[in-house]
Amino acid sequence: MQPTPVHPSWLGEPGSARDVLYQLLVDGPLSRSALAEKLGLSAGSLTRVTKPMLVGGELIESPGRHMGPTGRPTQPLEIVPDRHFFVGVKLTGTNAYAVLVNLRADIIAAVETSIDVREPHAVADLVAELVRKLEASAPKPVAAVGVCLGGQALAGGVVGWAPFLEWENVPFGDLLAERTNLPVTVSNDLNALTLVEHWLGAGQGIANLIILTIGVGVGYGLVVNHQLISDANAGLGPVGHIPLDPFGPLCDIGHRGCANVMLSNHSLEKRAFVSLDQHVTYSQLLELASMGGTAKTLVDEAGFALGRLLTIASALAMPEKIILSGEGVGLVEVAREAVEAGRRHDREKHVGAAPLEVIQVDDTHWARGAAIGAMQQPA
Ligand SMILES: [Zn+2]
Repeated sequence: MQPTPVHPSWLGEPGSARDVLYQLLVDGPLSRSALAEKLGLSAGSLTRVTKPMLVGGELIESPGRHMGPTGRPTQPLEIVPDRHFFVGVKLTGTNAYAVLVNLRADIIAAVETSIDVREPHAVADLVAELVRKLEASAPKPVAAVGVCLGGQALAGGVVGWAPFLEWENVPFGDLLAERTNLPVTVSNDLNALTLVEHWLGAGQGIANLIILTIGVGVGYGLVVNHQLISDANAGLGPVGHIPLDPFGPLCDIGHRGCANVMLSNHSLEKRAFVSLDQHVTYSQLLELASMGGTAKTLVDEAGFALGRLLTIASALAMPEKIILSGEGVGLVEVAREAVEAGRRHDREKHVGAAPLEVIQVDDTHWARGAAIGAMQQPA
């Protein structure tokens, strides 16, 4: 059963017209018959609702001719992308990246700034300034702002915990709303990435999807039946301590070979220092590993552990596809065979492996995801 949708306030007053807009926002262009079925409306009722919306410029018929199930051409309906504009922001411990997007999450403009002082009011001032710059290039007033960050985002725009910014229980949504006079949504960055990948990226159109990221930590995003699945633990690293290597080193809280200690950039740099007796960055380690030797052994151990994690995730969530990303994802290239061996290791031989796609994304991509969060969120 589909959950009852919660409608963002910018979609207007309750009623069938708002339901149509929301459905098209979330699902993209839909044929009239698919839309009528999703909304539980008859063909006649749908026409009565959508006709004034087409005349009023809220909806358009998608360009091009599409063949319907009966073989007759149909023209799917879609929301007019430039009817509303949103700002999406990604905060890291050192930078703020902001984008202005339309309803299709097309990037209209992008700005960024460094974060020198992490005090919440100071960061809210910086982000408000970015929003003002983007508002100046927006063809229409901005409808809402979405912010994503590494950490726990609670209801009401409160950041429960954000280790890179050293924040705890910061009402960042309120701080930014006061400065911008706009509705503000705050979300975990993995959820934002999952939203954008599912909507328009490598996970487009896929009902059941996993996103894993490796880098500073190990991130996990889940889509089931086209819905983002999340809870209050998102951003607290719930996947990070899953055991992957019984002979691995200890993590900072004493687990042997958990996902964090096997896969995070920082941990691999530390391990490289011990085995190579020299300081190397993560990318230098990957470069050394491509030439073999001790570095290759270390990176292969990480790759094997990653493969095991992919199989665990796959067995429990049954995705149609797994997307792998994050700043540490270069590991897969260097340790591909070890990753595949790790994937096979815990899998019964008749069990199929979900297709895996490795993607590199930049910071504006996460910011787009934050904007999508704002579009879909009730204000
Ligand atoms: Zn651990």
